[in-house]
Amino acid sequence: MSGGLPLRQDLVGLQPYGAPQLTVPVRLNVNENPYPPSAEVVAAVTDAVREAAASLNRYPDREAEQLRAAIGSYLFKQEALSFPVSCLWPANGSNEVMVQLLQAFGGPGRRALGFAPTYSMYPDYCRDTFTEYLTSPRNSDFSMDAEAVVQAVQETQPDVVLVASPNNPTGTAVDLSLIRAICESAPGVVVVDEAYAEFRRSGTPSALSLIQDFPQLVVTRTLSKAFAFAGGRVGYLVSHEAVVDAVRLVRLPYHLSALTQAAAIAALEHSSDLLARVADLRTTRDETVEWLRSRGLHAADSDANFVLFGIFDDATAVWQGLLDRGVLIRQTGPQGWLRVSMGTPEEMATFRQALEEVVPA
Ligand SMILES: *Cc1c(COP(=O)(O)O)cnc(C)c1O
Repeated sequence: MSGGLPLRQDLVGLQPYGAPQLTVPVRLNVNENPYPPSAEVVAAVTDAVREAAASLNRYPDREAEQLRAAIGSYLFKQEALSFPVSCLWPANGSNEVMVQLLQAFGGPGRRALGFAPTYSMYPDYCRDTFTEYLTSPRNSDFSMDAEAVVQAVQETQPDVVLVASPNNPTGTAVDLSLIRAICESAPGVVVVDEAYAEFRRSGTPSALSLIQDFPQLVVTRTLSKAFAFAGGRVGYLVSHEAVVDAVRLVRLPYHLSALTQAAAIAALEHSSDLLARVADLRTTRDETVEWLRSRGLHAADSDANFVLFGIFDDATAVWQGLLDRGVLIRQTGPQGWLRVSMGTPEEMATFRQALEEVVPA
């Protein structure tokens, strides 16, 4: 019992997620795009929402057909790959997509396999869907070793494999040959979480190009990061149609509100505008890695919009020292490391100055 309530035993004493939402001048802790939408995008989203508001007495399109078509157009423009609506599925953030996947393919008596250190939400999705969560370790540079990965898959026989690429919190992207090897050895579905795909360095491929070869492969993406639409709560998956059909069995009816669908369609129609600063953020990331290393720190190679750096004897003290100077970053991942999201040039200058004070060269 918890406070007199018959709370599930495995939830007793737990704290809800997680990242502090503090009001400080410089927030570099949850990998958002620091640039707000332009006036033009704000107007387009507002118009679309106003129009949708006129039919709010009705339930929304359960199948989100128009939004799925807009996602298809976006992927064609961005990745030059063509996916029909039947192979695309959106939900309230890729978080919800992931839970739906685990509801459909995980569950009691089933196992999911991840590669640690990785996204802190995977164990939570598994707990909430009664799926056992197992991890296999990455190399010390956070890369994944093909032989070890295939061995872990063969030993654990997971129903779901979860690979974040680029990985959070390390920024590491994996080679397509590794995804191929996993797909060839895994007995169940293979989910490649590409939340940060738009930030990847040139020459880093997307697993989207493998979908035609593997019916069990699922790639998830989100509008929350590069796309600068975290407040809109939209993520999606790309897969063969059978995976989408499976997810449609477990989704809540009318899971995506008419307002969300309208706003997301309008945003996707302005993708160039919303993604305009991605190139700058990638440059900032590469410069930040170099700068941290020039100060004698470790910084992991990153294909995302954040950098994992360390290694500190007391990472909590460094995190607190930065916060005391108005800079909020994230304490997550391996012991002694900290993660900083890429901000505007002004925000990054404040971060650098604060770090120089907290960790003198
Ligand atoms: C931020 C993030 C997501 C995205 O979550 P949304 O629910 O789409 O906002 C998914 N996977 C990883 C690894 C992330 O870091």
